[in-house]
Amino acid sequence: IPVQGYAGQTVAILGFGRSGRATAVALQAGGAQAVVWDDSAATRDAAEADGYDLRDLTKAGAFEGVASLIVSPGIPHLYPAPHPVIAAAWAVGVPVDNDIGLFFQSFATADWDSFDTMPRVIAVTGSNGKSTTAALIHHILVENGRPAQLAGNIGRGVLDIEPAHDGEVVVLELSSYQTDLARALTPDIAVWTNLSPDHLDRHAGLGGYFAAKRRLFAEGGPERAIIGVDENEGRYLANQMAQGQGDDRIIQVSSGQKLTGPGWHVFARKGFLSEYRKDRQIGSIDLRAVPGLPGAHNHQNACAAYAACRTLGLGPRGIEAAMRSYPGLPHRSQIVATRGDVTFVNDSKATNVDSAAKALQAFPKIRWICGGLQKEGGLDGLLPHLGHVVKAYVIGREADQFARQLVGAEAEVCTTMDMAVAKATAEAQAGEVVLLAPAAASFDQYDNFEKRGEDFIRCVGS
Ligand code: ADP
Repeated sequence: IPVQGYAGQTVAILGFGRSGRATAVALQAGGAQAVVWDDSAATRDAAEADGYDLRDLTKAGAFEGVASLIVSPGIPHLYPAPHPVIAAAWAVGVPVDNDIGLFFQSFATADWDSFDTMPRVIAVTGSNGKSTTAALIHHILVENGRPAQLAGNIGRGVLDIEPAHDGEVVVLELSSYQTDLARALTPDIAVWTNLSPDHLDRHAGLGGYFAAKRRLFAEGGPERAIIGVDENEGRYLANQMAQGQGDDRIIQVSSGQKLTGPGWHVFARKGFLSEYRKDRQIGSIDLRAVPGLPGAHNHQNACAAYAACRTLGLGPRGIEAAMRSYPGLPHRSQIVATRGDVTFVNDSKATNVDSAAKALQAFPKIRWICGGLQKEGGLDGLLPHLGHVVKAYVIGREADQFARQLVGAEAEVCTTMDMAVAKATAEAQAGEVVLLAPAAASFDQYDNFEKRGEDFIRCVGS
C-alpha cells in the first residue's frame, strides 16, 4: 500500500534488500522521495542501476531534510551494537522506523471509504509456530471464501499488500526483528504462539526478546488477543491484558492443558481440540484427522488459528473442513518420502532447541539428524526428550562438540548430510522416522534452513 504521511518529504532507507526495495516503491507511491543506502557496494550499484537515489548516510550532514530513517529487519539497532547510521539518526533526532511501522501507520490512515467492511489485520508472533499458524489462518480463511493475504516474514513483503476486497484479512507473520523497531504496531487481532529463548544476542537476552514481541499486546492494543498460555510469559501477558476474569477480548490457547474458568478458551488434548466459553463447550475438532498438523506443537498452532478464525466469525465446521486440507509448509514437519514403512521428515526449520524438542515428541521412534551452528543457551533442553531417539546422526562443522552434549543418546558424528542420511537410511527399521530437526542454525554449511532442507530431500531421493 502507498505509504501515508510522507508526501513531499524525503525518507532514508538503510539496507536495500527485498524489504528495502518494497519500502522505496511504497514511499514513492505515497508521494515521498526515497534515498537509499546499503553497506554493500554491489547492492548500492544495483540500486543505482535501477534508478533509485543513493545517499551516503555515513557522511556528516546526511540526514539534513530527512523526515525518517527506515531500517531493514536484519540490521541490529541496539544490541550487540547499533549500526552507525542508526546512531547518527538518533543523534540528530530523526525518527527511526521500519517497514512494519510504515505499514501500520499507512493502514490506519488509508482511505477505506470504498469498502463496506474494513479490511482487518491479524499479526502472529512468538518464538515457534508463527509461519505455520499464519499460513494455517490464511488457508482456513481462503477455503471459507474470505479474501485474505499472507505477508510479513512469510509470503509477501508487508508494503506489497494492497487490500482490494470487502472484509479482506491481512495475515502477518512478525518476528522479533520486525516488532522491535516498528513505531506503530496496531493489528486488530494479535496472536501469541509461545516463547522460548532465541536470537538472544540481538535482544541482549530473554528479557529484551520478550519485550520486542510483547509490544503487539501493549495497553490499548488489539481488539482481540489470542495467547498461548503454556509458558509463564503467555500467562503473564493474558493476565496483564485482561480487564477482569472472562474478558472476551482474550482467547487463551493451550496444547496439553484443559483450560477452565469464565473466559474464552481453546485447547488441544489427546488429539482433540475443544473450544469453551463461560465453561460451556461450543466447538470441537478431531485433530487426528488433520494430516498436515502432526504433533502437540502443531496442535498448539491449530488452536491459535482456530481461535483467530472464530473471532472473524467462522464456524467450527468450516474451520475443521479447511484444516483437513491444510497442506503444511515445506521444512516444517514435512513428510518427504515413505519407503518400506520408514518415513522421512524434513523439519529443517527446527533451528532452536525448543522447536527440535517438539519434533522429537511428535514421533515415537526416531533416527535423528541434528547439528549445525549451535545457538546460545546449550542443548540441555533437548535431554529430557531423547527417549524417542533410537540414534542421533550429527552433522555440522562442529559435529563432535554437538554430539558430546547429547548425553544419554547414541550419537554418531557424520558431519555431512549425505553421510547422515545414508547411515540413518541403512539402519532404520520399519515403523521408524528419519527426522531432520537440527536444533541449530544452518549457516556453518548452508546459506539458510531452506537450502539445508532441500539438501536433505536430495539425499533422501525419491
Ligand atoms: P516460526 O515461523 O515461528 O519459526 P514455523 O511454523 O516456521 O515457526 O516452525 C518453526 C519450527 O518450530 C519448525 O521446526 C516447526 O516444526 C516447529 N514448531 C512449529 N510450531 C511449533 C510450536 N507451536 N511450538 C514449538 N515448535 C513449533
